Amino acid sequence: MAHTEQLPAEEAFKGFTNTDCPYFPCHPGVERAFNCLFCYCPLNAYECPGPYRVITDRHGLRRKDCSACTLPHDGYRESWAFIQRWLRRPVPWDGSEQTRLPAPAGLPQRPSFSTAHCRMGMAGR
Ligand code: SF4
Repeated sequence: MAHTEQLPAEEAFKGFTNTDCPYFPCHPGVERAFNCLFCYCPLNAYECPGPYRVITDRHGLRRKDCSACTLPHDGYRESWAFIQRWLRRPVPWDGSEQTRLPAPAGLPQRPSFSTAHCRMGMAGR
């Protein structure tokens, strides 16, 4: 079951949980406080370590299906740190298949630009 957390005021920007959302909890497997801040993942257009699969939308565009990814949602501080780390040196996603091994949920990882590319996107967008 997804949890909420009370952050101190100086960290309140790092996350929140919208339990009123009709899709909540939208991703199974989140063990910490469910962070809704990154509902549209900022890494969608960039390389990332998430366990996405690549789909082709109705316009013929390759996109990430991030249904199985909990990285932007698992813990307010943890997901915040993860996104900030990967946005330091964003690398545009080129539409390739994900070849990274998925990180443990919520664990921040450093980008490794020498490894294969990651992908992003959702069907129908
Ligand atoms: S797979 Fe990548 S782009 Fe998709 S939600 Fe996870 S971290 Fe974000």
